[in-house]
Amino acid sequence: MTIKTFTFNPIQENTYLVYDETNEAVVIDAGCLSGVEKLTLKGFIEDNDLVLKRVLNTHLHFDHQFGNKFLFNTYGIKPEANKGDEYLLENVIAKTRSFGVEIDEEAQTIGEYIIDNQELKFGNSSFTAFHVPGHSPGSIAFYSEKEGVLFAGDVLFRGSIGRTDLQGGDYATLINSITKKLLPLPDSTVVYSGHGPTTTIGYEKKNNPFL
Ligand SMILES: [Zn+2]
Repeated sequence: MTIKTFTFNPIQENTYLVYDETNEAVVIDAGCLSGVEKLTLKGFIEDNDLVLKRVLNTHLHFDHQFGNKFLFNTYGIKPEANKGDEYLLENVIAKTRSFGVEIDEEAQTIGEYIIDNQELKFGNSSFTAFHVPGHSPGSIAFYSEKEGVLFAGDVLFRGSIGRTDLQGGDYATLINSITKKLLPLPDSTVVYSGHGPTTTIGYEKKNNPFL
């Protein structure tokens, strides 16, 4: 499994393109917003002969879904996300403006819903989805036991945890999700977060002041 990280949009959101030896690929959190960012993602897919199979969302805060419409228009693939976050897509132009970012299109609608413990396959690979609410009601983490990687969205960061003051956030729910679903994973699990650098479960167990 190969993981390519892009950092997109004024919120500095991490968009991940994940693919394996079959060249089938998934995008996790398409945050590309500017024309240059969209072409950067599309160019990487083309230059590496990748076949995009799925567009997955860890959650649906605006900065994690800016590129979903572009990917639907370009590849005909609708995003997949947990139903609990679908309402976050309403009035996304106004929400985005309140953070000082101007966009000119409302959000791309969801295709399929992702549920807790669902297997998400592409190529010879798969992720298990963990429902980890708290940062948002429908936050999902994508885990590959075989590869030892976890895509945590905005639930867990290096030395920090997700904000709970945004729409749909709840602190106690977030701590419960992290301690019940993420910390039991092997210490060596590499965590790819929605913002900032990677970390590991072991590092966060030892050093995260919120846990
Ligand atoms: Zn978020």
